[in-house]
Amino acid sequence: MAEPDVVLRAEELVKHYPIKTGVIRRTTGHVRAVDGVSLELRRGETLGVVGESGCGKSTLGRLLMRLEEPTSGRVSLDGVDMHASSGAAMRKMRRDIQIVFQDPYTSLNPRKTVGDIVGEPFDIHPDVVPRGGRRRRVQELLDLVGLNPEHINRYPHQFSGGQRQRIGIARGIALNPKVLICDEPVSALDVSVQAQVVNLLEKLQDELGLAYVFIAHDLSVVRHISDRIAVMYLGKIVEVGTEHEIYETPTHPYTRALLSAVPVPDPRAREVRQQIVLTGDVPSPANPPSGCRFHTRCWKATEMCSREEPALVERPDGNGGHASACHYAEESAAERLTV
Ligand code: SF4
Repeated sequence: MAEPDVVLRAEELVKHYPIKTGVIRRTTGHVRAVDGVSLELRRGETLGVVGESGCGKSTLGRLLMRLEEPTSGRVSLDGVDMHASSGAAMRKMRRDIQIVFQDPYTSLNPRKTVGDIVGEPFDIHPDVVPRGGRRRRVQELLDLVGLNPEHINRYPHQFSGGQRQRIGIARGIALNPKVLICDEPVSALDVSVQAQVVNLLEKLQDELGLAYVFIAHDLSVVRHISDRIAVMYLGKIVEVGTEHEIYETPTHPYTRALLSAVPVPDPRAREVRQQIVLTGDVPSPANPPSGCRFHTRCWKATEMCSREEPALVERPDGNGGHASACHYAEESAAERLTV
C-alpha cells in the first residue's frame, strides 16, 4: 500500500553484472555493483547518497530511474512497482522521476540549441505543454534556473560549466517530476560554482516541492542540501541517518573516515579533529571481502568482522531513522569525533 509520505522506495535492490571471459564469453563471476540496498525517499526531502567511486551509488541512481533492470529487488514510485510496469503506466512514471547527470560538458548535445535540449522531454511527452506553447515553456524553464530566456537559440559551448549544469537541471524539471536523481551534479564544477548550483536546487525544491536523491563522492558537498544521508561502501548502505546524526554522531568507522576528510575552515577545530587515514584501496566489487566488507581497511576490525557480516540495524537511542552496519556501532558512537 502507498504511504502518503514516501514517494520512492527501494527494497533489497541488487545489481550484479556478469564477468564474461574467453572466446565463448563464459560467465566466470559477477561484479556486485549494488548488493541489497533498501531506502525510502519522502516527499520534498533530499536524501544524500555518499561513497567513494566504485561503491555502486551511480548504479543505484540508474536502478531507481529504471535506466537499468535490477538482478533482484523492487523500486516503487508512489506505491507502484516500477519494474513491473509497462506501456502508459511506465511512461507516466518516467515523467515523475528525472535525472541530472554529473558532467555538464558531455551530457548536453553540442549540435543542439538550448531550446532543443531543454524541450527534448516534450518530444516524448507532448501533452505536458499546450500546442504551440513549447518555446514559451522552455523560456520559462530557463528563467526558473537563472538563465536568460533570450539565449534559447544558443549552443552549449556558449555557456560556462555552471550555466550548462543549469541547462541540465532545466531539462530535468521540464516535465514537473516528483523526484530528481542528481548524479554528482556539481562534481565537475569549481567550488564557487558548486554552491550556486546547490542553492539553485534548494530554491527549486522550495518552489516545486521536488524530492532529490543527491549522489556525491564526499560528505562536504551533501551536508548543505541533505535532510538525510546514506553512506555506501562496496554496494551496500553502511550507515543512514539525518544530516545531524551522520555529522554529529556517526557510528560506522567508514562514515567517520569520510568525515575526517571534510575540509574544516576553522584552524582550531582542525587541530582537535581526529584524523583518520584509510589504508589500502577499495576492494574489487567482483570479489568483496568476507564478513564486513570494510574489514580490510577498518582500524577497529576484529576476527569476528572478517567472519560475520553486520546487518544494518537501528541505533537504540536514535529516532528510528539512524542505522549502522557495524558490530561495534555503539562503541564507535561513544568515541567523540570533532568535525
Ligand atoms: Fe570495522 Fe568490524 Fe565495524 Fe566492519 S564491523 S566497520 S570491520 S568494526
